Amino acid sequence: MTTNHIKPITGNCLCGDTTILLDTADTGEQVRTPSPFLSLSRFHILTQTCFNALSQIACHCQDCKQSSGSAFSTNVLVLQNEVTIRGPIKTYESKAPSGNIVQRIFCSKCGSPITHKSEAFGDAQAIQTGNFKQFSRVPFHSELFTKNRWSGLGEIPGARQVAAMV
Ligand SMILES: [Zn+2]
Ligand SMILES: [Zn+2]
Repeated sequence: MTTNHIKPITGNCLCGDTTILLDTADTGEQVRTPSPFLSLSRFHILTQTCFNALSQIACHCQDCKQSSGSAFSTNVLVLQNEVTIRGPIKTYESKAPSGNIVQRIFCSKCGSPITHKSEAFGDAQAIQTGNFKQFSRVPFHSELFTKNRWSGLGEIPGARQVAAMV
């Protein structure tokens, strides 16, 4: 198996006190999760460098709307042991429609959403990408809960459309 080490990247919340370090290696493998909708390729084979190759997920579920204060959230799945979060965080737990408990972690000083964890993600966790400048050009692999997409928004070109998760 070939492993290319990806340059670590750091994001931060609005106030700057909470930082998120992603330090990951491209093994060419998929993130394995219990959910068939989330067995995504970690590295969309598009570009050569850094996190340009890591593909994003947009989620239109009601919980993402409220936890982000916006119409949808943008995320990337990263293995938990490749994520380091430092700063004044708090965790809020809620039950998803699937019955899974979702832990939502946010900066306790400024409220920026940082990450969320769920049994559905297996060994991975969802990192909210808006805290990183590096994701501005990263393509979207999937859109989840498109049944809840606001009518004024169109599909993201090239993104797999998943109406809901079961
Ligand atoms: Zn903050
Ligand atoms: Zn969601």
